[in-house]
Amino acid sequence: MILPPATIGMLGGGQLGRFFAMNARSLGYTVHVIEPDPHSPAAQIADKHIQAAYDDKEALKQLRQSCAVITTEFENIPASVLDYLAEKTLVRPSAASISNAQDRIDEKAFIKSCGLLTVPYGVIRTSSDIATAIEAIEFPCILKTARLGYDGKGQITTNNIEEVRQGFTTLGSIPCVLEQKVNLETEISVILGRKQAGESKCFPVAENIHRDGILFKSIVPANVATHLTEAAQTAAKRMADKLDYVGVLAVEFFITQQGALLVNEIAPRVHNSGHYTLDACITSQFEQQLRMVCDLPFGSTKLLSPVVMINILGDVWKDVESAQPSQPNWQALLSSPQTKLHLYGKAVARTGRKMGHFCVLAKNTKIAEQEAEILFEQL
Ligand code: ADP
Ligand code: MG
Repeated sequence: MILPPATIGMLGGGQLGRFFAMNARSLGYTVHVIEPDPHSPAAQIADKHIQAAYDDKEALKQLRQSCAVITTEFENIPASVLDYLAEKTLVRPSAASISNAQDRIDEKAFIKSCGLLTVPYGVIRTSSDIATAIEAIEFPCILKTARLGYDGKGQITTNNIEEVRQGFTTLGSIPCVLEQKVNLETEISVILGRKQAGESKCFPVAENIHRDGILFKSIVPANVATHLTEAAQTAAKRMADKLDYVGVLAVEFFITQQGALLVNEIAPRVHNSGHYTLDACITSQFEQQLRMVCDLPFGSTKLLSPVVMINILGDVWKDVESAQPSQPNWQALLSSPQTKLHLYGKAVARTGRKMGHFCVLAKNTKIAEQEAEILFEQL
């Protein structure tokens, strides 16, 4: 066990790193963050901010010397960086356990190797793969870059082979997957913590509503048949076991209108759809990540209350694209007794940028959802 006041390293300075740092500091740990941005959400909270690129050798050297364990807040850290850090200290999760999630082609092959289902898809590495890729699927399709996509970025909807060809060029003729666009009943996610010794524990399943490819709202408990939420938790555990994963892992699932459970993608980290755990569970996903990487006992994942979480994007700032956007009206939100507001300390609001979120607790999710929607409209 790595006990406080040990120093924990974090690669990445976004809001996920910020909540991790807050939770680690409240348990008496010291946190060092590597992040190139001088004013990032996590660096504001860390004991020490090493302002450098994620692959800056000097910075990494400093980090691996000072930290008992190093973790990350996003999946796109090059494996070579994690391997370099792992020569001298613990890195959790390991490079090997996150590499599948860095590439949609590998990720889908991995999901299938676990005996689980994905949407029908084809692989397009070069334009000569396009004709074969569309054989097994039906239009409309979504063309997605294999690497580096998030919040719906790097995705183009296509309705025929010509649009696939154009889309492939627009995306830079880099490896892609072409996914059949499935008719979704809903989406859910499982977040679990897994320890080095192999035990894992899931948080309650969240039901997720997206807008324009970005998470808008999470509802917990999910209003989905128990056999599906249980199957999702079993599937997530199976994948975590196969990866020999240590830390917190999130898995996004689709539920089709025919009632099939498909794995959408894996995020080898804490996840936006787990933000509800900050206010509605005994242990937050961030504290669980800390517990897993330090090999402490599991924190309880018990849900204390039904909850609805809504993301606050820069879009709700007035005149967001102007030189001086004005703050939303926080009055109603701050006056609502069952509501908790979290802002990430980002100085500049932009369209599509995640600025904060809020959670509404209530005796059932229906009431929480109504209240959350009213509060969101008033921003
Ligand atoms: P990201 O990595 O940006 O989160 P996702 O692949 O999870 O990308 O896509 C974002 C959202 O877009 C999904 O949560 C879902 O709402 C929608 N979406 C993505 N792929 C499909 C698909 N094949 N069929 C239907 N909806 C999809
Ligand atoms: Mg996603």
